[in-house]
Amino acid sequence: MELKQLYREIVNEHNLRPVHKGKLENPDLVMRGINPSCGDDITLQLKIENGVITDGKYVGSGCAISQASVDMMVDQIIGKSKEEAIKLAGTFMGMIKGEITDEESIESLDEAASLQDVRHMPARVKCAVLGWHTMQEMLEHPEKANDKVEE
Ligand SMILES: [Zn+2]
Repeated sequence: MELKQLYREIVNEHNLRPVHKGKLENPDLVMRGINPSCGDDITLQLKIENGVITDGKYVGSGCAISQASVDMMVDQIIGKSKEEAIKLAGTFMGMIKGEITDEESIESLDEAASLQDVRHMPARVKCAVLGWHTMQEMLEHPEKANDKVEE
């Protein structure tokens, strides 16, 4: 199987069978992220205990890239400290913008590295970074992370 095809399959898999989609019981932080240029709309919910992300889910809708990206992102940050998650967001956004290309950094993104070709698709960059940007924003500005989760 070609590598690019494998990446596409990972994206498809997260769309067909999202692992972290749904509503979280008593989340500590909730923030909505919208990408108007594509219509991607997510609401990310996180549970934080002693500075560690102990659980996370999202609701919303959007294109395959936005939804797969947020699903992979939540998968990666559960169990990580806020600082580690913020750092990962920086690495992911750097990769998507083509500013971070070293293998070690990209490997630290695990499955989310499968979205690296998005850097050649400028119109999809905002789709790919939506979940990560929202996560970074809510961890850095928890006072703003009090949105409502729509049923
Ligand atoms: Zn999109």
